[in-house]
Amino acid sequence: MPAGAALGILAALLAANAAARDGCPRSTPENERRLADPPPASARIAVDVVLLRGTGWSRDVVERRLGRLGAVLRQCGVRLDAAITEASAPGAATRPLYDRARAQAPNGLGTITRALRTSARPVLFYIGPFEDNPGQATSRPRFDSAGLDEVDTAWVPYGLGEGGAHACYLVDAHELVHTLADVGHPSLEYDGPRRARKEDPPYPGEQDGGLMAGNPGARTNVLGASVCDRLRKGPFAERL
Ligand SMILES: [Zn+2]
Repeated sequence: MPAGAALGILAALLAANAAARDGCPRSTPENERRLADPPPASARIAVDVVLLRGTGWSRDVVERRLGRLGAVLRQCGVRLDAAITEASAPGAATRPLYDRARAQAPNGLGTITRALRTSARPVLFYIGPFEDNPGQATSRPRFDSAGLDEVDTAWVPYGLGEGGAHACYLVDAHELVHTLADVGHPSLEYDGPRRARKEDPPYPGEQDGGLMAGNPGARTNVLGASVCDRLRKGPFAERL
């Protein structure tokens, strides 16, 4: 056996041990490898990041999370360029409403986006916990929000994503990829057909699971090839 092959097997065994230790779900070896050893960037996506003041988020913490977010997107050969702005929400509403029907309320997502969006780029908001749905993050991709003020946004409430249900993946990345790749939850393998939302756009790669799995307990930071493809060819990507 060539030394390289022996080392490869050793690396695989070590990776398997790590998997057993952290207790997180595993994807295919090919997908896992892409996350650990990303390809050169072939596209870039620029997003605006809005940190709402008075929510608990600090610039340092947001910058650190954006660093992790960039590492997640790099597995797809995508470079994330994020510009942070600190802002006050309309009426200083630090706790937006999750409810879609109330998007035009003073602290609805539509009102906040309309007041604070400064470009055509997608916006990632760091906010306080939703007033009507604490513990939930969300996004508004085109497939379900085209034509609405809050389209092309993702929302991460303070306190979300540190351990617990989010121990194995970055919630910021899950929500932003919904928007940047314009995808729903494809993972029939985890959720079963009954839980696949009928409005989610169909695309190949239902075995991908990983970051976009419908069941939060099944999520990891790994992205499958089909979601990566949609990120690189999506409406926000510029080829490098
Ligand atoms: Zn989701």
